[in-house]
Amino acid sequence: MTIARSILLIQSIGIHARSHRFYSSAKLRNIGILAHIDAGKTTTTERMLFYAGKTRTLGEVHRGNTVTDYLTQERERGITICSSAVAFNWRGHKINLLDTPGHIDFTMEVEQSLHAVDGVIVVLDGTAGVEAQTITVWTQAEKHRLPKLVFVNKMDRPDADFMACVRDLSQKLDVKPICLQSPLKDDKGNLGILDVITQQTFTWNTESLGREYSAQPPLDVHLAELQEKRYTLIDELSGIDDELAQVVINSEGFEQVTNELIQQALRRSVARRKVVPVLVGSAYKNVGIQLVMDAVIDYLPAPHERSQLYDCFGEDFVGKVFKIVHDKQRGTLTLVRVFRGELKKGSRLVTTRNTAEAISKVYEPLADEYREISGVPAGDVAICAGLKHTVTGDLLTASVSTLKSAQKRLGKTLKLPENHVTPEESDTDATLVSEIFATEPQIPDAVYFCSIEPPSLATQNAMEAALKQLQREDPSLRVNYDSVTGQTVLGGMGELHMDIVKSRILTEYKIDVDLGPLQIAYKETIEEPAIETFQLEKDIAGSKQSVMITLELTREQKELFSLDKSGENAANLNTVRPRMLHVIRKGALSALERGPRVGGQVVETQIRLHNITIGRGTADSFVMAAAAQCVQKILTSAGTRLLEPIMALEIVAPTERISAIMADLTRRRATINDVRPKSEQNKVISVNAPLAELSGYSSVLRTISSGTASMTMQPCGFANMNANDEVRAIKRAQGFE
Ligand code: GDP
Repeated sequence: MTIARSILLIQSIGIHARSHRFYSSAKLRNIGILAHIDAGKTTTTERMLFYAGKTRTLGEVHRGNTVTDYLTQERERGITICSSAVAFNWRGHKINLLDTPGHIDFTMEVEQSLHAVDGVIVVLDGTAGVEAQTITVWTQAEKHRLPKLVFVNKMDRPDADFMACVRDLSQKLDVKPICLQSPLKDDKGNLGILDVITQQTFTWNTESLGREYSAQPPLDVHLAELQEKRYTLIDELSGIDDELAQVVINSEGFEQVTNELIQQALRRSVARRKVVPVLVGSAYKNVGIQLVMDAVIDYLPAPHERSQLYDCFGEDFVGKVFKIVHDKQRGTLTLVRVFRGELKKGSRLVTTRNTAEAISKVYEPLADEYREISGVPAGDVAICAGLKHTVTGDLLTASVSTLKSAQKRLGKTLKLPENHVTPEESDTDATLVSEIFATEPQIPDAVYFCSIEPPSLATQNAMEAALKQLQREDPSLRVNYDSVTGQTVLGGMGELHMDIVKSRILTEYKIDVDLGPLQIAYKETIEEPAIETFQLEKDIAGSKQSVMITLELTREQKELFSLDKSGENAANLNTVRPRMLHVIRKGALSALERGPRVGGQVVETQIRLHNITIGRGTADSFVMAAAAQCVQKILTSAGTRLLEPIMALEIVAPTERISAIMADLTRRRATINDVRPKSEQNKVISVNAPLAELSGYSSVLRTISSGTASMTMQPCGFANMNANDEVRAIKRAQGFE
């Protein structure tokens, strides 16, 4: 399948659909699929597409022909980088499924897709249970208050342990797992499933690649066990769901509780995030996938059952851009989750960043081609062409005034006491609200940077255009121009991130760019608070320009830029017009972009204006330059310290390897936070370590542990360093080490 064809498979409504059908919200599901790397997310997605009739053959990750891992780089590396969106029809419903990247370099992509979904499937590797990245993505889904169901995959493997996975869920993720099934192996080792609610045994036909499956009454040996499990399930659920509890009380027992009543109670409890249904199977061996799809429809919420935050928009259009892709024929395509109103072809919209956009076309891709449609209703996902400035993460609304009044209405509802929001929940609300309405997408700090150069001057512009496009798709990619070195500099989340950018520029834009060595993105902070008065005077074209400015760099202020109106400064500052203050602020803050030691961004430092005298006729740009130079002077004379990026690592290894791993970590300036048992044989080490000490660490770990350890890593802020380490860092930054 070509990239153009496979780039997006929001192929709507099933293979037989001829005309575009609007799905009512009750018949829609927008679902994310999350997992630790290698748990089987891609394989599971492929199976879903196959059983729903979207694909005619089964893709296999190791053969590099899966639909969702569509980028050449992803196929080569066998991991999912871009969260591709696929849609399929199941039991008269349309399921939009967003696959998400498992690699830490791409956490921003996961964040964006979580804004667009109403529930998630978390895939566990049945032989490994809850792994480090599982905890990370779970926490992200929790932040978005998403109902979840768990699919314990790889149950075909002899070392898979279903009950250990269930224990992991309650111990490590602190959730209440409700087992809807248990695995069953016949004497040949073939996997089947015991279904607790229906009390049946499900088996899959291997010849039809699992397309055909059948349900039978359980063998006598399983009867008692299944009955017991069903009672436990009802017991657990009625402890959570009052309606079910009432039925149990009224009927004085469990016998009269019907399957429908259990399912309804389960659906309500999942929506309230009180329980997590757990299913089992093997994606690779084609076992259990159809039941996971059934569970998505039965237990995960429809669009109208969630996203009440957007009620403040009433019937007005509001949608969230969760992905932007580049299509060879159609140019930039923007994927929008429509929350309220209808997204119509030809409509004009604005973003929270105040840019205006026109939707020139809305597409519904069919099997091999996109087809234009007139619009997409609330709850669904739209693919739009024509948007020029929108970046991933933007909120699209009908107009500035609808946005403003929605914000006002939302502010009121959030304050209402009868909103039944616990203090803890209202905190999350506030964070989510500020994220949703943020004027700029919240982008993680870059931890690495490198220069990027075109093969020739003639291709400079084309390279810049390509980078601009890539940045719209992925705002966690930073592109800066360094005026000191004259180079374009990329900032990002890791080596893989930069590599992907390079190879995408080559494959999609045919420019063979060169990347400079990968460098750590240090930050700087002031050594001590300092205050200085700075004077700048010049004759420019016969007009005298003069500024005398007193600025202080401090660490104690909340605002990045503030005024010191104490004593005699008050009289002086009261005469400065707000417009001029804005100019001064802009100039002063610009100097924090590049610290004096290694050119790192200056953080944890605020600026206070004490006094300013501006000569008559002095230009704004001159005032701005004076403010910037004043800050630079203070930074240089008072001095800055470096802050280095720190990574949080979770390493799982057999107990006998732990001491060797710890000894090596100590040499890497790591702080060991915790070592705890994971299973009988394995332990988990949680550490924080400076990024500078981790280059090539995964292969070192492989050597120390003879390949038995696994690890995940993610950025967790910046920290001070001691004088020796700082000297080494500066040497390294200057290319002397
Ligand atoms: P992802 O990284 O979560 O997308 O995982 P993939 O779907 O790429 O699968 C990782 C590896 O596990 C691949 O080699 C798959 O063939 C294999 N795999 C996936 N599901 C199963 C399964 O159910 N059983 C077994 N034995 N292997 C599986």
